[in-house]
Amino acid sequence: MRTRFAPSPNGPLHLGHAYAAIVAHDLARAAGGRFLLRIEDIDGTRSRPELAAEFRADLAWLGLAWDEVPQQSLRLASYHAAGERLKAMGLLYPCRCTRAEIAAAADRAGPDGPVYPGTCKGRDIDPTDGVAWRLDVAAALARCGPLQWGDAIAGVQQARPEQFGDVVLLRKEAPASYHLAATLDDAADGVTLVTRGLDLFAASHVHRLLQALLGLPVPRWHHHPLLVDATGRKLAKRRGSPSLADRRRAGEDGPALAAALRAGDFPAGISLGDRVNMAA
Ligand code: GLU
Repeated sequence: MRTRFAPSPNGPLHLGHAYAAIVAHDLARAAGGRFLLRIEDIDGTRSRPELAAEFRADLAWLGLAWDEVPQQSLRLASYHAAGERLKAMGLLYPCRCTRAEIAAAADRAGPDGPVYPGTCKGRDIDPTDGVAWRLDVAAALARCGPLQWGDAIAGVQQARPEQFGDVVLLRKEAPASYHLAATLDDAADGVTLVTRGLDLFAASHVHRLLQALLGLPVPRWHHHPLLVDATGRKLAKRRGSPSLADRRRAGEDGPALAAALRAGDFPAGISLGDRVNMAA
């Protein structure tokens, strides 16, 4: 049994992260398993390396001990290799659409915003010319057939990755997209229970498809509810949720805070993903 807490070092952790880390940590410990702190630091434009040390200090302050600290930036070769495999399978195509073009052309919204309408599919595009690579989801599904995955709370799910459209797997400005990197890492880290917030529930449909395409082991998932603020939106630093680092430096009692979260004592409540406004 192996779980992980996988923060991106692009901003400080807040109470919602503390709860996510506690859920992952406690599930591992209850099963005599291992708890991993994975640093998801491949977004070169947003990553702040100094935050990884802060994350460790935050978790230690809460009284959480981790067993391993894998780091995405040390694994770029594996993302590249998986991308090449998927290209060789004929499942990726280059795309050079801008966000604005996609927003203008999209005819539906998916879990991550406007769904890519497939503009570049079948186009003759020079792949050396700063492109993103998208997964041809219809072709991928045709190859794999129906897939299922299991969430500890929500139960068995039929995989519906098509709700995202043709997702980007290799980004223009980063070595891999979140979907590809997280899926490969969970396999490389031997994660058997993927714990994360309900805001990422839908992403698991895509991850299940990638596991099938790349022959990776299929974990179980545990998507936990999200801490919300007084307006019912999930906690976010940019909406004024104090950082764990500030609370730690102010001398607050970390283990007491962790105990309160474990006891269900949340400042404004907790919510299931579909009732939370996910807007950034
Ligand atoms: N790095 C992601 C985040 O900070 C979490 C990824 C995951 O748990 O799969 O939102």
